[in-house]
Amino acid sequence: MARERRPAIVAVDDEPAVLAAVSRDLRRGFGEKYRILRAGSGAEALGLLTELRTRAEQTALLIADQRMPGMSGTDYLVQARTIVPEAKRLLLTAYADTEAAISAINDVALDYYLLKPWDPPEEELYPVVQDLLTTWEAEASVESGGVRVIGHRFSKDSHDLRDFLARNRVPARWFDVERDGEARELLEVVGVEADRLPVVLLEDGAVLERPTILELAERIGVAGQPAQDHYDLVIVGGGPAGLAAAVYGASEGLRTVMVEREAPGGQAGQSSLIENYLGFPMGLSGSELAHRATHQARRLGAELLTVQDAVGLSAEGAGRIVHLSDGGALSANCVLVASGVSYRQLDAPGFPELTGAGIYYGAALAEAKSCQDQHVVVIGGANSAGQAAVYFSGYADRVTMLCRGDSLERSMSHYLIEQLATLENVTVRTRTSAVGAEGDGGRLRALNVRGPDGDSELPADACFVFIGASPRTDWLEDVVARDERGFILAGPDAQADGWPLNRDPYPLETSVPGVFVAGDVRARSIKRVASAVGEGSMAVSLIHQYLEST
Ligand SMILES: Cc1cc2nc3c(=O)[nH]c(=O)nc-3n(C[C@H](O)[C@H](O)[C@H](O)COP(=O)(O)OP(=O)(O)OC[C@H]3O[C@@H](n4cnc5c(N)ncnc54)[C@H](O)[C@@H]3O)c2cc1C
Repeated sequence: MARERRPAIVAVDDEPAVLAAVSRDLRRGFGEKYRILRAGSGAEALGLLTELRTRAEQTALLIADQRMPGMSGTDYLVQARTIVPEAKRLLLTAYADTEAAISAINDVALDYYLLKPWDPPEEELYPVVQDLLTTWEAEASVESGGVRVIGHRFSKDSHDLRDFLARNRVPARWFDVERDGEARELLEVVGVEADRLPVVLLEDGAVLERPTILELAERIGVAGQPAQDHYDLVIVGGGPAGLAAAVYGASEGLRTVMVEREAPGGQAGQSSLIENYLGFPMGLSGSELAHRATHQARRLGAELLTVQDAVGLSAEGAGRIVHLSDGGALSANCVLVASGVSYRQLDAPGFPELTGAGIYYGAALAEAKSCQDQHVVVIGGANSAGQAAVYFSGYADRVTMLCRGDSLERSMSHYLIEQLATLENVTVRTRTSAVGAEGDGGRLRALNVRGPDGDSELPADACFVFIGASPRTDWLEDVVARDERGFILAGPDAQADGWPLNRDPYPLETSVPGVFVAGDVRARSIKRVASAVGEGSMAVSLIHQYLEST
């Protein structure tokens, strides 16, 4: 019998009437693209999931009633997660069980809970399910897509290409030439020698040997060229602040272009789960937030230029010119600098040489699947490190966190400390730092660590470093006033630095009139997604005031 291609939605409820109703509604809404399977108990559903997995059939969504005898909905979803980790999870609850649903969010990594009854389904059920399925489809296609990358896992060039594709959500598959027989077969078919890796095979049959990020971006249509000669607003940086400004700028009629050097999303794009952003009670991944915001900005008319670096800024009369790394320039009435901060590099022997070959800065989420059965070390004690440890614990055999401070309490949010405490394969070593990295055959083998008991060697397969970040604003030197650490001054602080006009600067205006700043790169800003989004949108309102006053 032919394998069923439609992914499955599995509904489980012990009450036959409720099960029949939910199956009927799901079939009516999603039956064309998805198979709706039902089970009368958690145990039966787990058997069904195992069967689907054995037959290599996809499961997109699990829907479970919380109140079931024998096995509750949350207990079932916890177990189901180990069989089909990629499936989205939705819990059906009675109003009285809302508390149980909320406290299950972390244990089950619940994607949504829905109160029974869900009438009318067009308003109560379909939008939620559609949203979950759209996200699932995007994630599934990202991992099974048409672009294929073949390389050595511990090569920086391979890592950079994979990271770039993943962060731009380009559907791509990764083949490790050392582990995958298929990788070697593919290389033979396309006639590429093993010393020309990494190689990228595109859907149109093109073969790119050792491409640069820019070459790849151009070939797959991620990089763009400006469509206009002059803009109302040029935004530098596509993190939450820049994306928010793009959405508000374009929606309010400003000709808006956003320049991003890597991939939209910025630091937030690296977050495996943002749990404290208003309006997303189950949390959402940074890449999902970036994807939604990018889509929204484009739909409202903003232009996005990626894989372009702003390398200079100049003022010519009322015009503001942003100079780009490809030699081009963007002319505008206003500029918003939303270039955020970048990870600080760990300055210890071995770290520079092994970066990309076992040592990574930031979460490098594309590496997670390769960490299966391995020992992962996370360096840092703040929220970003905590999130990464939680995330990698789902893939790696064990995770060790190295944190310089006495405890995590001072540097990490309470909810993350609690989550870490529940994870059996995560160990936190406080008052411990990494003082060196040892390689073997060009890849990380171990870290030299210094702790309360002296120096020792810690074998490690991969190490993710989160030791703070600094702004990269050298390109604004002598143009825009900055503080001693490179953060950009705004409002009253900018005025103190030779402000040229009779009026005071607007709150987010820099020392150059018409050049604004938002988000983490601003001196004394709050380093949060919500504040970056708030500042990005607020900047647009101030830009309107500026434009009206000139
Ligand atoms: C792993 C991780 C997890 C986090 N989790 C949370 C969380 O759960 N909740 C929370 O509130 N905050 C979280 N944060 C913090 C939050 O992500 C940041 O505060 C937020 O992203 C700042 O947004 P931004 O737009 O100011 O800057 P960034 O996100 O830093 O974005 C700046 C962008 O500008 C680009 N850029 C820089 N220079 C140039 C240039 N010259 N030309 C073109 N482009 C340029 C960069 O490539 C980048 O994409 C987390 C951060 C990290 C690293």
